[in-house]
Amino acid sequence: MIHPLLLHLVLFFSAAHSDPTLVIKNARIADGAGGPVVSGKVVVIAGDTIVKIADQKKWKTPAGIREIDGSGLVLSPGFIDMHNHSDSRILQQPGAMTQVRQGITTAVVGQDGGSKEPLATFFSQVEKNGTAINIASTVGFGSLRSLAMGDDWRRPAKPEEIAKMKALLDQDMKDGGFGLSSGIEYEPDSYSTTDELVEVTKTIKPYGGYYVSHVRDEGAHVLDSWRELMVISERAGVPGQISHIKFGSVSSWGQFPKYTALMKEADAKGLKITADCYPYNYWHSTLRVLVLSRRYDDLAEVKRGVDDNGGPENIILTDYAPDPSVVGKSLAQIAKEKRMDPYQLYMQMIRETDPAHRKPEWGEDVEGILGISMQEDDIKNFYKDPRVMVSSDGAIDGGHPRGAGTYPRFLGRYVREYKVVSLEEGVRKMTSLPASVLGLKDRGRIAEGMKADLVLFNPDTVIDRSTIKDPTAAPEGIPYVIVNGQVAVENGVATSARGGRVLRKGK
Ligand SMILES: [Zn+2]
Repeated sequence: MIHPLLLHLVLFFSAAHSDPTLVIKNARIADGAGGPVVSGKVVVIAGDTIVKIADQKKWKTPAGIREIDGSGLVLSPGFIDMHNHSDSRILQQPGAMTQVRQGITTAVVGQDGGSKEPLATFFSQVEKNGTAINIASTVGFGSLRSLAMGDDWRRPAKPEEIAKMKALLDQDMKDGGFGLSSGIEYEPDSYSTTDELVEVTKTIKPYGGYYVSHVRDEGAHVLDSWRELMVISERAGVPGQISHIKFGSVSSWGQFPKYTALMKEADAKGLKITADCYPYNYWHSTLRVLVLSRRYDDLAEVKRGVDDNGGPENIILTDYAPDPSVVGKSLAQIAKEKRMDPYQLYMQMIRETDPAHRKPEWGEDVEGILGISMQEDDIKNFYKDPRVMVSSDGAIDGGHPRGAGTYPRFLGRYVREYKVVSLEEGVRKMTSLPASVLGLKDRGRIAEGMKADLVLFNPDTVIDRSTIKDPTAAPEGIPYVIVNGQVAVENGVATSARGGRVLRKGK
């Protein structure tokens, strides 16, 4: 027999739990699953949950409960960014203003092989500090490799080192990691063999994790690199996702039909292969990534690498600690000013930023570049593929405008202007599709019982305003963003709400 006082408390809390705290009316609803946009409904939120989707004519909001008027706006689930680098700054900038203003309510960090280790420590720091957006993380293969191999990583790992990586990864997965990320174009991941990657990736299978990769070569050998990802997915028995998919160099252009054929092959084998893509024709990386053979003092190699990435006029410095005055200029421009050959200039810059003699005062961002080396048509074709979702590859105060503009740019250009996909399909690519790869059952759709991560945007005006010169500028046409039922953006301005949480796989 339940004690009457206890019963009273139970009833009190369950009633309090479903009492509305926020109501959104007059909006057209894109549910995230790809269904047609509907009107005439109100979305009722109690605490952090959508508790009711009611007929607006029959609904009356109780006195004193806040209503948001969504007239002229589309209500969508919050955007889930599958490739996000906010882990670099979320502890310093828990408001994550550039992220939340563009509608990102969940950022999946730990990308390109680099995660904060161990995840449990990072997660508790984020929780203690507060966050405006939800943070989920994959485990970085490169981070594990560094921990297991120390400074001696310019070779394939030995069996005992692989065992160490697997043990670290297993613990991170127990603590809520969503999968394994690699960045095989970068050190130390680039020294790994496919066998090594397969063996480590097997660890995530019992947890339902996925393998996600910045592949070995995004340029000349991109098709081989995607095939390697397929092999890893198949042999480890886990879904595979291609990070920021692109034909990233001049020599790789014109091969879209080969991508289609490869994906058909994956489907025929029953593999689950997905990809994410950012809506920009230029990437952000390091000077070093231009010469994959790492033979930085071989002029012919340097010339091949620079030219295949669009040539000296299409490579623009975003960071250069030894001489910050060159930031914003292309290699061609800087070379002209210095009366130097641009390839010799590149070689000099590599020497000046050699990891062996970097100055502590240079900080983490010693050198960085934008490379304009993708074709618009390829981006459009990727977005037409139902397996390809949107990601930013951005950071809270990163040097690439995608860090503040990805989602409004996708909606404004690729959906509204180019009509690459319908509004419903565009929303699905930012919401339920990533949620399904993550295995998130309570986010990514608008339905009763789902968490109240929501975005209100104006489909006629939404657009990015961030540029190479002003990479953190706020977008237009996203007046409201709600994270776990809390208003995180109001009239386009980030609030002080810290409604975000750490999301842990399986919890
Ligand atoms: Zn990457």
